Amino acid sequence: MLKPNMNYGELKDSYLFFNISQKINKYLEDRPAAKLYRMGIGDVSLPLCDEVIKALHSAVDDQADPERFHGYMPECGAPFLRRAIADYYAKRDVLLSDDEVFVSSGASDELGDILDLFDRASTALVIEPAYPAYVDANIMAGRKIYHLPSGEENGFLPEPDGKVCADLIYICSPNNPTGAVFNRAKLKKWVDYANRNASVIIFDAAYEAFIEDNSLPHSIFEINGAKTCAIEICSLSKTAGFTGTRLGYTVIPKDLERNGMYLNDMWVRNRTTKTNGVSYIIQKGGAAVFTEEGQKQIKANIAFYKENAKILMHTLDKLGIKYYGGKNAPYVWMKCPYGMKSWEFFDCLLNSVQIIGTPGSGFESCGEGYFRFSSFGTRDDTVEAARRMMNFLKQ
Ligand code: PLP
Repeated sequence: MLKPNMNYGELKDSYLFFNISQKINKYLEDRPAAKLYRMGIGDVSLPLCDEVIKALHSAVDDQADPERFHGYMPECGAPFLRRAIADYYAKRDVLLSDDEVFVSSGASDELGDILDLFDRASTALVIEPAYPAYVDANIMAGRKIYHLPSGEENGFLPEPDGKVCADLIYICSPNNPTGAVFNRAKLKKWVDYANRNASVIIFDAAYEAFIEDNSLPHSIFEINGAKTCAIEICSLSKTAGFTGTRLGYTVIPKDLERNGMYLNDMWVRNRTTKTNGVSYIIQKGGAAVFTEEGQKQIKANIAFYKENAKILMHTLDKLGIKYYGGKNAPYVWMKCPYGMKSWEFFDCLLNSVQIIGTPGSGFESCGEGYFRFSSFGTRDDTVEAARRMMNFLKQ
């Protein structure tokens, strides 16, 4: 009899977003006309910028013209987009060859698929609180997971402590949900640790474009030694509003070798076997993000979200509530007031001022007592939510 992948039985039920929507539905059942302020969303609210839209339209027209029509695209990405992404890295002095850049349909897809490169007996270390996909994708693959909790004592940026020696190390910087960002010195410690132990770092740079402090690294490849121990996974979802359009990229250096196998070569083999490339139209839209005008326009959108974050941070400052993130990340990670637990604070905000956020305990137990606000909402909702929170919590 066929035996399914029994590791799926090990997955914990994902209560976080299910519970949030249950609570919202219940609230609206009793008060159908209530207006809710959704400050927990991880999706963007601004549309794609003009430059991207123009490129998408023009690519659609190409597909109607026998001279310009494109069929299957190269599995690892269109040369024009691989070049544009490599040029983007070069601006920060990270020199990549085009074939170290792989175009993808988004970071989530890659975070799951990349695990094909590693033995199932390998172990994974996840710095927590964390984006839930890291743990779940490894449970599905049957891997042993080491959970490394972080907290206020290290600003949610833990260092390797030598107690565990995992094969895969997940680092998300800027972090979802805490908004914390590794500086060069701290990241270097992880790079050295990974090189010493022959581990591989999976560096999730989905929020790199939100970094405004020039001293902070956007890419792990800004750190010496990273090319022999890291894979970087990135996305245009939050950078350029591609959550529904779907586009990302993954960098695997040619020098990354384990046990005589080169991971870049392996990934080429994987992609050419398991995908037929990302749509020509979408890749054309993606390339527009990296033009001078495209960069200007996406930066304006990011500045809009940053302003939302500032409004929230200003309110928390006035209330004297401690928080992390917000400055170099789209998330504000606040400490629940009056020692409340995460879900207690969720209920309190929903029932009293109709604000919805994300309970920190949903990102593993060390998130208990924290609450995540996102800056991806509309300006009107953000301003009103900040006003309501101010009036409510100052009492
Ligand atoms: N990585 C992190 C840390 C995220 O927060 C998200 C989405 O919220 C993703 C990856 C997934 O991004 P994508 O939309 O490219 O799949």
